Amino acid sequence: MCEQHTQLPPYQCTYEGCQMRFTVPSKLKRHEKVHRGYPCKEEDCTFTGKTWTEYMKHKKEQHRLILKCDQCSKVFRDSWFLQQHQHVHSEYAGRPQVPQGQL
Ligand SMILES: [Zn+2]
Ligand SMILES: [Zn+2]
Ligand SMILES: [Zn+2]
Repeated sequence: MCEQHTQLPPYQCTYEGCQMRFTVPSKLKRHEKVHRGYPCKEEDCTFTGKTWTEYMKHKKEQHRLILKCDQCSKVFRDSWFLQQHQHVHSEYAGRPQVPQGQL
């Protein structure tokens, strides 16, 4: 193949180390999103996921939410579980205490 006669598409990606070229600017624009990725929004975190999946995986692994019940200090991974758990406390509060063995 003679390189002199090979016309390269004029729009080259400016991202460092990326050799991608495109014939139209709109395609280049679309491609550039790949490099922008999904930056992590957490404070002090410099991670950028290339894909949404990668970003979510990072979030799960690095910034796993730890929710604590303020009444008994039990720890939950999910706000839904915490909510379910907290019914235990509200039920106790709203119901007169029944001594065990009377039910
Ligand atoms: Zn590129
Ligand atoms: Zn992060
Ligand atoms: Zn609790």
